[in-house]
Amino acid sequence: MGTIIRDSFGRVLDYVRISITDRCNFRCMYCMPASGIEWIPHNEIMTYEDILFLVSVLSNLGVKRIRFTGGEPFVRKGFIDFLHEIHRKHPLIGIAVTTNGAFLERDASAISALALHSVNVSLDTLDPGKFSEITRTGDLSRVLRGIDSLVASGEVPVKVNTVVMRDFNLVEIPSLARFAAEKSVLLRFIEFMPLDKDVWSKMQYVPASEILSLLPEATQWSPCNKNLRASESLDPGIPNGPAKYFRKKDTGQCIGIISAVSDHFCHTCNRLRITSTGEVRPCLFSNKGVPIIDALRRHDPDATREGILKAVTQKPHEGGTGIPGEKQAPKVDQHSSITCFNREKSPRNGAENFTEERHMSRIGG
Ligand code: SAM
Ligand code: SF4
Repeated sequence: MGTIIRDSFGRVLDYVRISITDRCNFRCMYCMPASGIEWIPHNEIMTYEDILFLVSVLSNLGVKRIRFTGGEPFVRKGFIDFLHEIHRKHPLIGIAVTTNGAFLERDASAISALALHSVNVSLDTLDPGKFSEITRTGDLSRVLRGIDSLVASGEVPVKVNTVVMRDFNLVEIPSLARFAAEKSVLLRFIEFMPLDKDVWSKMQYVPASEILSLLPEATQWSPCNKNLRASESLDPGIPNGPAKYFRKKDTGQCIGIISAVSDHFCHTCNRLRITSTGEVRPCLFSNKGVPIIDALRRHDPDATREGILKAVTQKPHEGGTGIPGEKQAPKVDQHSSITCFNREKSPRNGAENFTEERHMSRIGG
């Protein structure tokens, strides 16, 4: 006890994202091909017992916050019971979940009883047709009902994350902002990250400065990271991850912008990722990782800790955000195991841009 994880550059790593599953009921164009990916066999995925054990090791290493993600975490059977168990065993760890929102309506009352620190719902558009296009299998009304159910419970801070893509949802920035205000949810716009060079397009990428300039009544917004309210922050008083927050003078609405590309935040990175197969990934932009699945299965705390700390030594100073081909270009692995599908044209506008390629689901997006 009393330990903390500090990397070679002095950064304290107290936040871990764990991918519960690589599987998903959506096929978002920038994340998976239409046919899905070849799912990892169940016996290669961490069991809930493995993850419980992992969390106890992480807790002893001073980890304070854990986000469960995927794939879609709620497609995994028993996920809610698992969250109860995690909270029961580790009440001091802040637990959050990232979801596509498809199951929120079904599970809202169970989720609101979980004492989660936040539920982040990914929502890239408010247009039903465009939602079907980008997610391929998603139903916008179901996700919106899910958000409403969770907000109505009043028990869990709900955040909405929107990846901004120029030809897709740039024009919706004002309506998404108004939507967030009406629903009282915290909206964060995310710069489209060049995780895969074949999917990402400079044409589709929109920098944070432009996103900010497109907020409704743009001159009304001023930076407010230091004055976040409890409902807007995972830990009031502690810098809230990589988002820069802005508050609207007249209404008090707060919106975050995550500028992973135009203003990279590697120097403040406090996180590790663990894949659903039990591999510790020190950086989102690298395919290097340290497998700890055998140690987890043996419930061997020393070997698990050793694997985690080995991955920490591999954490780069800068993982490689920035615009490909320009200064600080991503150092994306050329032989990436997560770069594996072919381009296809968008059915809506024929563009060859944000189509397929990367299953961030495997690395815990
Ligand atoms: N299925 C859940 C969901 O969609 O929220 C969790 C997993 S998903 C991989 C996590 C997040 O990664 C989503 O919000 C998605 O929009 C985001 N994401 C995927 N590819 C991205 C990219 N190239 N740039 C920015 N965000 C991305
Ligand atoms: Fe599924 Fe999330 Fe990837 Fe969309 S972004 S395909 S919802 S894992």
